[in-house]
Amino acid sequence: MKRAINLERLRRDLEELGQIGFNPKGGVSRPSFSQADFEARDWFKEKLRQASLEVREDGAGNIFGRLKGQQEEPIILVGSHFDTVINGGLFDGSCGVLAGLECLRSLQEYNFNPAFPIEVVSFTDEEGNLVGDFLGSRAFTGFLNEELLRKDQTHFGRPLSEILKAAGLSLESVLQAKNQAPKVLAYLELHIEQGENLDLEEIPIGLVTRISGKRLYYASFIGRSNHAGPTPLELRQDAFLGLADFALRSTRLVASEYEDGRLTIGRVQLHPGTFSVVAGQADFTLDLRHSEKSSLKAMEEKVLALAEEIASARALSFHSQLVDSTEPTDMSVPLISLLEEEAKNLNYPYLKMISWAGHDAQILSWKTDAALIFIPSINGISHSPEEAIRWDDLEKGANLLFQAILRLAKG
Ligand SMILES: [Zn+2]
Repeated sequence: MKRAINLERLRRDLEELGQIGFNPKGGVSRPSFSQADFEARDWFKEKLRQASLEVREDGAGNIFGRLKGQQEEPIILVGSHFDTVINGGLFDGSCGVLAGLECLRSLQEYNFNPAFPIEVVSFTDEEGNLVGDFLGSRAFTGFLNEELLRKDQTHFGRPLSEILKAAGLSLESVLQAKNQAPKVLAYLELHIEQGENLDLEEIPIGLVTRISGKRLYYASFIGRSNHAGPTPLELRQDAFLGLADFALRSTRLVASEYEDGRLTIGRVQLHPGTFSVVAGQADFTLDLRHSEKSSLKAMEEKVLALAEEIASARALSFHSQLVDSTEPTDMSVPLISLLEEEAKNLNYPYLKMISWAGHDAQILSWKTDAALIFIPSINGISHSPEEAIRWDDLEKGANLLFQAILRLAKG
């Protein structure tokens, strides 16, 4: 019989971890360095020790469990993250970390003697609850935005240095984490799709060929606040109407001209924000994504030009500040081929696909060969308490990961 992982054990782990930071009314809330995250970190390190793996934590709080190899370097790295968004689900990230752990335990049970060390990793703050996405994997690979870190701010209002200090870390230790990183031969990550393609097509495995690029902006239309009674409609400089016009026209623009484009306005705040006053300012977040680099750039330019055009037609001004920018990233072609071969060996149907969400694999791919395996998200739901998977799909995903590690670790 083919060697395989133990689904029951993996399922128990996921359910146990899912209790940490769980609220029956609001799913799992486990942002990095919250009380729940500290508890999860202790739980995970204990699991690694129980599995006789060597535990290591770097200056960014990334946690590693190592199965020794015949040589010291390079290593094969598998994992993901177990921090969550507020009111998130049980599976985003956790599946990848715990499937990695399960693979290492299974390797030991088969007395497999790998040519290279194999490490399972849990990266810090993939969700960007603190200071933008991928703090941990960026620190590990050396692709941090040092300027942003040195601003010492977080989305929670508390200074980053204070939050890090409570975790026994510092801005300096985060910046130094790259120097503690071993050479990585390959990075493999299992993750839920967070979209509906696999579930709709009833295919258990997605092999990601590319992760889309994105631009994140803070933006504002600025007009003039005035009394909602005496000010005639035609004399208003209503920032809200500027935004409403922009929201509809920019979405139409992307839908009609950029088939593989996405535009999302995720948060809106009007000022002063009350009944009797025309909104003088409309602040919003703008999230632009595309799978092709040149199209992303062209789309971004057109959308911003449209905002300027609308502002000037409505006697408003438009301001935008770029807060995050990532180019579309290809996953490793040799690793995708290897995964295809193994999926065929296992008789698992698979789909090659684009990922519309960012992942640690994207950051790792700037440094090493990286691959991303998707399993279906039921109804495409994620970042929600309703996030769900089928255990059977997880078993297939983890077994594919396991076979890929076996191949790579033979040397
Ligand atoms: Zn994730």
